Amino acid sequence: MLLSEVRNEVVQVCREMAAAGLVAGTSGNVSARIGDLVAVSPSGVDYGGLTAGLVGVHKLDGTPVEAELRPTSEMPLHLAVYAATEAKAIVHTHPVAATALTTVADELPAIHYQVAMFGGPVAVAPYATYGSDELARNVTTALRRRTACLMANHGAVTTGRTLREALTGTRYLEWLCEVYLRAVAVGQPRLLPPEEIELVAVKLADYGRRPV
Ligand SMILES: [Zn+2]
Repeated sequence: MLLSEVRNEVVQVCREMAAAGLVAGTSGNVSARIGDLVAVSPSGVDYGGLTAGLVGVHKLDGTPVEAELRPTSEMPLHLAVYAATEAKAIVHTHPVAATALTTVADELPAIHYQVAMFGGPVAVAPYATYGSDELARNVTTALRRRTACLMANHGAVTTGRTLREALTGTRYLEWLCEVYLRAVAVGQPRLLPPEEIELVAVKLADYGRRPV
């Protein structure tokens, strides 16, 4: 089987995002890029029954190379992000706090230094119908100089150098959105200045390179 290792990782990350409550039912989707190929979760398959063989392998233009099922309906989004960024993995979810935030705000501001892991405040991409090229364009624009974006009245996207990194990003993003919603429920949050976020981004990058 082509790219069996990464297809297994896609299955694992899909199961973890479902178990963590980051999606409901079969919503959400996951992909990883290996060179000129993309391994992507299929459309509408229950994560409990997902196997590596059901994770399709496609070219960067979407042409199937080894795919039993139709790819996720958000395939245009995944392909557009790979074309426009350095991302090697994408996780798209509908987490409760992040999705709630997208219905009332245009960005997740710098309420906590942890936004630096995404490059700074996280934008909410304007709404467009799921699976549409317009949504793919909106998300790609919102991801400029960032590894996360929110999607108005829809959900969240995080990218990474690995699937694990993209999934971890989603967990942090959801936590930040939860903190933000709790803060704005009781007052006007204090924000960190851009220069502090830049400083923390450098520290986090350094931390990432340190042997553990
Ligand atoms: Zn979605």
